[in-house]
Amino acid sequence: MKRIVICMILLLVYTKSFSWGFYAHRRINTYAVFLLPPEMMVLYKPYIEFLGEHAVDPDKRRYAILEEGPRHYIDIDHYGKYPFDSLPRKWEEAVKQYSEDSVKKYGIVPWWIQTMLYGLTNAFKEKDQAKIVKLSAELGHYIADAHVPLHASSNHNGQLTGQHGIHGFWESRIPELLADKDWDFFIGKAGYISNPLHFTWQRVLESALAADSVLSIEKKLSNLFQADRKFSFESRNGIIVRQYSSAYTIAYNNMMNNMVERRMRQSIYAVASFWYTAWVNAGQPDLKNLSNKAFNDTELIEFEKLNALWKKGQHSQKICE
Ligand SMILES: [Zn+2]
Repeated sequence: MKRIVICMILLLVYTKSFSWGFYAHRRINTYAVFLLPPEMMVLYKPYIEFLGEHAVDPDKRRYAILEEGPRHYIDIDHYGKYPFDSLPRKWEEAVKQYSEDSVKKYGIVPWWIQTMLYGLTNAFKEKDQAKIVKLSAELGHYIADAHVPLHASSNHNGQLTGQHGIHGFWESRIPELLADKDWDFFIGKAGYISNPLHFTWQRVLESALAADSVLSIEKKLSNLFQADRKFSFESRNGIIVRQYSSAYTIAYNNMMNNMVERRMRQSIYAVASFWYTAWVNAGQPDLKNLSNKAFNDTELIEFEKLNALWKKGQHSQKICE
């Protein structure tokens, strides 16, 4: 029994340390649909389930493609101190200054979002329905990742400060416990983003600034809590697992003044606004009248392959067996 429990915990920690966690990613894309104007809703509403389900494809792809990993984060502290002025915000200039290999090594999420936005804008111009929904789902993932403070820090799982597991704690455990019950996702309308690169960098810099609080507040709270109250055995999908206790999770969330809810709301607004911006920049095509409505065989095979590799990747993490 003990062995099984430990396996489960390792599995959870590993799976969840990629990004927001599957739960939050799915919700961010789903809630973003409701911020869109009616002209876009005609396409996005019928695909709402697809957009939620495929919000996590980029994380699944990390098992398949080596280059995928750096698209989800930036270890921005590698470039000095906030606001990291030595790092040029434009890709060409950053690569010129630090070399492409080095920039890729420390993460490229701010720039990858621009690449995905460009792809989505072209998909709208081509009126290619399958491409629009696929790229929308994936763009939503990277935008959401850029809002996670520990995605903008080299201490991404508290490994440098003895806080191993904090990544999944912040982005999975807290929203899973509180989002559906207590959080407000009434956000309003998507807005047009006139300078997407600048917008992205603002959000990334906010993440970088918040990373210190994420770590230091947990450290403080950990000193206040007795070890046996910090973790508890609780049921998760019918399985008993050891995880951060509900009391500890709620206390951490309160001490951070609902930071996770704020970042999730900002993610939802940003995702909807990027989708909207791509559509506007493509000339606002009529979304009732698109071509290439069904996914082709190659795309369907790719979805299957991602799932299979992800399951295999999870399996290989069962290192205790
Ligand atoms: Zn991710």
